[in-house]
Amino acid sequence: MGIRGQLVLLVPGIVALALAFGTVLEVRREQRESIADFRQRNEKVLQSIGVTVAVNIAQNDLSGLDTLIAQLSTSKRERDLTELAVLDDQGRVLAHSEPERFNTIAPDAFSQNATQVEGVTWERSGDTLRISVPAMSGIRWGTVTATYSLDRLGAHLARTRLRLAITSVVLFLILGTILFLGLDRLVVRPVRTLQTAVRRMGEGHLATRVPPLRGSELGELTNIINRMASALQHERENLERSVAERTRELQEANARLERLAVTDGLTGVFNHRRFQEQLQAEIVRSERHKRPMGVLMVDVDFFKKVNDAMGHPAGDELLRRLAEVLSADLRQTDLIARYGGEEFAVLLPETSKTEAMQVAERMRQAVETKINDGTTAWPTRVTVSIGVGTYPDDGKAGEQVLVAADQAMYVAKRQGRNRVIGSRGAVA
Ligand code: GH3
Ligand code: MG
Ligand code: MG
Repeated sequence: MGIRGQLVLLVPGIVALALAFGTVLEVRREQRESIADFRQRNEKVLQSIGVTVAVNIAQNDLSGLDTLIAQLSTSKRERDLTELAVLDDQGRVLAHSEPERFNTIAPDAFSQNATQVEGVTWERSGDTLRISVPAMSGIRWGTVTATYSLDRLGAHLARTRLRLAITSVVLFLILGTILFLGLDRLVVRPVRTLQTAVRRMGEGHLATRVPPLRGSELGELTNIINRMASALQHERENLERSVAERTRELQEANARLERLAVTDGLTGVFNHRRFQEQLQAEIVRSERHKRPMGVLMVDVDFFKKVNDAMGHPAGDELLRRLAEVLSADLRQTDLIARYGGEEFAVLLPETSKTEAMQVAERMRQAVETKINDGTTAWPTRVTVSIGVGTYPDDGKAGEQVLVAADQAMYVAKRQGRNRVIGSRGAVA
């Protein structure tokens, strides 16, 4: 059961209980007052009758007394009167609404007591009220006793009780309805709105805001929740931004590291490790597509002389320039790496032996013309010897092709350097 159900049952329930309790008290009070009224009214009537009765007794007018009692006991005005008697001081009946009781001794304790007591007496038992008054005219001449039925009064009280009960129920219903509608409008609906918005925030939709709500407490709560959501949203955006920034930095650092790991620090071309990896990959590819591939081994002629004559830094500079010149005419798919010391290795995918020999020859010529352009006074003319190996002519394994290129390069050295030699003695 929701908050509304509990309140709607609880509050009118308490009010109804209070009303019921109040009604019971009210009915009791009214009953007491009505009976007291009834008694006092009839006491007065009986007292006035008492005077006439006393005169009748004083004059020994028993038939007058009978007539008076008979008239009174049948009177319409005295509808509640069920018994009327006049007793002498011994309790003997002088006149009675039931004439056959004349001259008998009233047997009941009330009547006996009434004749002995000065003044008015009364007794109520159940729906019956008995009253006695002394019949006075100068002195006491006897006692008038009357018995009244309280039925009519009881019926009247029952009607009052019913009226009060109906009023209570109607009040309860009206109150319940007002409370239901009021709670729904002022509490339940705003709380539901709040609940929906907070649930969405909890699910991560931090851009959600609680709409303005009625009532100062709910309004304040709304402001607090909205401010909290704003702060969270702001924090999350900051966090996402900084995570994205860190991720980008990390990716850049990784890329730099990756490049460093496969790059030769001196010349900027790929390193030996990368060359080996790529050689294996290209062999697999070539085999799959049944395509040829060339490998060039490039070694600088008499490089030691440069170091010896100009120092190692100049040798380094020459290596950098060589890397530049050798890279210049390569295709996107080709790869050049520094294989070791002053040796470069070149991978030429999709290249036959003839084509590889031509590429190597262009490289040799490029070195010869571009490095010896007169800007640097090298101790000797800078040239390269290039050995060419090809897949699948020199073997199916990368290693075999590489060895073939290396051996061809040594052949080129032996034959006088500054030349291109293919494996198995092919000449460019
Ligand atoms: P050849 O024509 O027979 O190849 O003669 P070469 O002098 O080039 O051959 P050798 O192998 O005798 O000498 C290679 C030299 O390259 C030896 C080494 O000091 C030098 N060298 C290797 N790596 C580097 C480098 O990173 N920087 C410099 N400056 N020199 C290097
Ligand atoms: Mg060498
Ligand atoms: Mg050399």
